[in-house]
Amino acid sequence: QAHLDRIAAVDGDVHAYLHVSDHALDVAQDIDRRRAAGEQLGELAGVPLAIKDVLVTTDMPSTSGSKILEGFMSPYDATVVARARAAGLVPLGKTNMDEFAMGSSTEHSAYGPTRNPWDLERIPGGSGGGSAAAVAAFEAPIALGSDTGGSIRQPAHVTGTVGMKPTYGGVSRYGAIALASSLDQVGPVSRTVLDSALLHDVIAGHDPHDATSLTDAWPSFAAAAREGATGEGLKGLKVGVIRELPDSGFQAGVAASFRASLALLEAQGAEIVEISAPHFEYGVAAYYLILPAEASSNLAKFDSVRFGLRVDVPGGTVEDVMARSRDVGFGDEVKRRIILGTYALSAGYYDAYYGSAQKVRTLIQRDFDAAFAQVDVIATPSAPTTAFRLGEKIDDPIQMYLNDVTTIPVNLAGVPGISVPSGLAEEDGLPVGIQFVAPAREDARLYRVGAALE
Ligand code: GLN
Repeated sequence: QAHLDRIAAVDGDVHAYLHVSDHALDVAQDIDRRRAAGEQLGELAGVPLAIKDVLVTTDMPSTSGSKILEGFMSPYDATVVARARAAGLVPLGKTNMDEFAMGSSTEHSAYGPTRNPWDLERIPGGSGGGSAAAVAAFEAPIALGSDTGGSIRQPAHVTGTVGMKPTYGGVSRYGAIALASSLDQVGPVSRTVLDSALLHDVIAGHDPHDATSLTDAWPSFAAAAREGATGEGLKGLKVGVIRELPDSGFQAGVAASFRASLALLEAQGAEIVEISAPHFEYGVAAYYLILPAEASSNLAKFDSVRFGLRVDVPGGTVEDVMARSRDVGFGDEVKRRIILGTYALSAGYYDAYYGSAQKVRTLIQRDFDAAFAQVDVIATPSAPTTAFRLGEKIDDPIQMYLNDVTTIPVNLAGVPGISVPSGLAEEDGLPVGIQFVAPAREDARLYRVGAALE
């Protein structure tokens, strides 16, 4: 009830939610009854959960921020949602996002932007700005997001929250409306590292419905976070800092906060080691070929026949209806990426664009492999600037894309990354995050390090 009241009080300004559940209280009361009857429930039982609208749910509409899916009711729950329900979490509502998770500001939502609770004139990050803003504004204690190039970590950075992108395959993608299938991962957003770890424990693990789901047994992430909070884990930990990421690319307050966090780690016994990742800087360029290619293919299913919006074209052919429906149903950024993707995949260009991007992807993976032979984790600023103003980058896609310069390589390599608050930037008083990256399957290490810094 407290969260529903808070939503009623502030969401008119923040607009974190696209839909608020009308039966969350019933679900919560049912958990109370089960607990009263002596049932052993997990640590998150009864805790409200905000769910990014990219995740399908049977009891609330799922739009992925797009007009083409307005009002769409899924016949099944995403695996992560089913697991959250089974653990007793109480879905509060669906959160706003850039259309089909394309964006870094939530301004590309077909339903209007979300605002940053720290300053309502600024963006909450994206694409998962709704989940991060809901958590930052106390409209939810914890949330689910998805991260294809930074959509959990960059919103966490600009809202002073924690955001974790798990190892690729560590969390099921079943029921996460696909953006780029080789990059997408679902993960938690929260106010503390321990909260993210607890939710990650609930959603992790093999899912036969997801062909790329790992079969690994995962250690307890919550145990790792609790261990990390003692600070012991930092002694002797080797933290890599990338030589090719010069301070100059970052807002002064972001660079200063990053250096201050490194000093804190060092003071607690960590060793800072300079490493080289020469191909890291080509991540954004490779991503904007691989992502549109995969997205253009994934979005082909929105054909107005199977589901979603259908616009009638009197006297028109089925192709006319499909074309008109997609024209009306998709926003500009989605169309831009479909055009880029189909172009990059077309005969004669495939090798030059998509093929080259895949090679760059391999080089970035090798950079990470070489780095992790020397260090336990890599640290970077989570994003180059603090929250920018609404409207500031909306007409300049390249500037918008460059926001993800430090998060994108992590998705390209399939390794886990976490953004943890590292303070406020001196010049504007806005939150800044530090990103830690670990080798594949070492997600627990990130909770240990993140909790130690917190
Ligand atoms: N901002 C990036 C993009 O626009 C990342 C999106 C994401 O992670 N879903 O593609």
